[in-house]
Amino acid sequence: MSEMVGKKLSPRHAVVDIAACVACGTCEDVCPRGAIHIYQGQYAKVQEERCVGCGKCAQECPASVIQVEVRA
Ligand code: SF4
Ligand code: SF4
Repeated sequence: MSEMVGKKLSPRHAVVDIAACVACGTCEDVCPRGAIHIYQGQYAKVQEERCVGCGKCAQECPASVIQVEVRA
């Protein structure tokens, strides 16, 4: 977490159920912030410092495996 010092994170962020993700890439295509990418062809991974919790990815995910949650 030390790399995030000095950066203000949004109150909410996208959380992916990676076990259920089918790596379709839809979230990557629709994210306005370039904050979510397919990791090694396996599942979607959120880049925390870029995600603003807008929920666009969650709305479009065909597998409904993304939730927008308050950051811990
Ligand atoms: S849209 Fe959903 S199923 Fe597709 S890669 Fe993103 S999280 Fe996974
Ligand atoms: S919540 Fe918004 S900013 Fe965050 S990954 Fe999803 S589409 Fe991108």
